Amino acid sequence: TQKRERKPEWLKVRLNTNENFQELKKMMRNKTLHTVCEEARCPNIYECWANRTATFMILGDICTRACRFCAVKTGLPTELDWAEPDRVAEAVEQMGVKHAVVTSVARDDLADGGAAIFAETIKAIRSRSPLTSVEVLIPDFMGNWDALKVVMDAKPDILNHNIETVRRRSDRVRSKAKYDRSLELLRRAKEMQPDIPTKSSIMVGVGETFEEVIESMQDLNNHQVNIVTLGQYLQPTRKHLKIEKYYTPDEFKQWKEIGLDLGFSHVESGPLVRSSYHAHEQVKSAKAQ
Ligand code: SF4
Ligand code: SF4
Repeated sequence: TQKRERKPEWLKVRLNTNENFQELKKMMRNKTLHTVCEEARCPNIYECWANRTATFMILGDICTRACRFCAVKTGLPTELDWAEPDRVAEAVEQMGVKHAVVTSVARDDLADGGAAIFAETIKAIRSRSPLTSVEVLIPDFMGNWDALKVVMDAKPDILNHNIETVRRRSDRVRSKAKYDRSLELLRRAKEMQPDIPTKSSIMVGVGETFEEVIESMQDLNNHQVNIVTLGQYLQPTRKHLKIEKYYTPDEFKQWKEIGLDLGFSHVESGPLVRSSYHAHEQVKSAKAQ
């Protein structure tokens, strides 16, 4: 039996429901849509929704992979719904979302990994809400770079792909994904569309060292990544990968300073930071470069 350590104070979130949040919440109830914000019980939901940022999950909710930190169900997905891009776009419009993050499970069962649906979703959001910025958080498409090109050609405002953890812990923490393949994806995305900011996230507390996180930031920087986010891993259930360490807010601050010194345009680093946290601000800072 695993002893559960108490959560440090800085991970407890104060509830702060405001009007914007309630309004969006009501809207989500009326539509049968999945936001990651709600399904992952993201602690930032009040703040993000108040800022009109939301993350939508496309391509179903069953993943062909089984990463040890992730609460998404594993199995063989059946869903491929060409009406989905417009449904997401409609929700973005009705919710008045200003920064939409679109992400998916890994669809290794599809030849293009779902890239075409990503591209259609970007286009559908653009056509209904031209002022909304669109960030895509994509899987690695098993290294299918033609699939990556389909997404890049649809010109998202931010191309996000998570490296998730440091090199040494990668095989243990992720399923099927490869550290170097993720770096290559980020590099190729930048080559295909040099003006589109690229972004990646590292979750900490899964057995890495403080220095290894810096090494990963260097790797990302060497692959021309513009934005990096760092957050504390929290175990979704007892069956998931155990938390090896809680880093302090001060350690996150140190990484942020190191990241900015390395030359990233934006570093979001804190215990509760998630990939899409403060994403609307990252668009601005990356574009201002
Ligand atoms: Fe949603 Fe991402 Fe914000 Fe969490 S951090 S509430 S998942 S947009
Ligand atoms: Fe979860 Fe993504 Fe891993 Fe699938 S590929 S198990 S959705 S982290």
